[in-house]
Amino acid sequence: MHTLDWKLDCWTNYLENNSLLQPLWDNLRLNYSGYLRSPLFPVILTSPSYFVFCLPFLICDIMGEKWPWLLRHKIQPGRRPAASALLHCGRVTLYNHVFLVLPASVAQWAWRPPVDLPDRAPSLLDLLAGVTGNLLLFDFQYFIWHLLHHRVRWLYVTFHAIHHKYPSPFALATQCLGGWELVTVGIWTTLNPVVLRCHLLTTWAFMVSHVYVSVEDHCGYDFPWSTSRLVPFGLYGGPSKHDVHHQRPNTNFAPHFSHWDKICGTHADFCVPAARNADSLDST
Ligand SMILES: [Zn+2]
Ligand SMILES: [Zn+2]
Repeated sequence: MHTLDWKLDCWTNYLENNSLLQPLWDNLRLNYSGYLRSPLFPVILTSPSYFVFCLPFLICDIMGEKWPWLLRHKIQPGRRPAASALLHCGRVTLYNHVFLVLPASVAQWAWRPPVDLPDRAPSLLDLLAGVTGNLLLFDFQYFIWHLLHHRVRWLYVTFHAIHHKYPSPFALATQCLGGWELVTVGIWTTLNPVVLRCHLLTTWAFMVSHVYVSVEDHCGYDFPWSTSRLVPFGLYGGPSKHDVHHQRPNTNFAPHFSHWDKICGTHADFCVPAARNADSLDST
């Protein structure tokens, strides 16, 4: 056999039998199994991730016109969140975490046995496919939920209106949600990886990725590294499309991808920025 073919054969065999993620998984499994097996671990992973992902965008909002290059990427230039808006979203998020996320986590901790950690890591391909599959499934579920909560007035007023308080989104508005919406999103992000039979490492990668893309959707900036620019063919909506949803609430119901809105005729590319509202102010 040609040396190059032989080497390729060996490499293919290695990849089939050994995941590139195995050293990482072995390290985690052998050194941190006590933490990883706890039903509390997903919350411990995702809650701080939310604030870490919000922080750079929050700094951008605070620095504002002191960094003029930022304005080139601002989707609604000149509309930055006022301190009162940031504080309101901070208060709602804190309330939700203390009265919903924490009790749900403690209940899981009390009633669910620690999870088993498998010996084998997922392959990199399995992990990427699992994260993508979970994002697609969540995108479909939330599209239906979101459409219903805009079309049925009672559902909108009772549960979803709080998320539309700010027509010019900013990172901290991501979790400015009513309790019912937060619970629904929490159930899907917890159960979907189980339904799709994902490895725990894939599950955690999905949960963190989902927090990131949700924050990015609301960040108010369309940077060159925005997910919608990295995913080709306009398949992904990202911050520019979700920003349009906050300005024209009868468009762009899908949180991440754009296919469901295109199929259902609710997709919109652009929006002429509305007049400033009282909740968005320039810094002084
Ligand atoms: Zn939103
Ligand atoms: Zn909405």
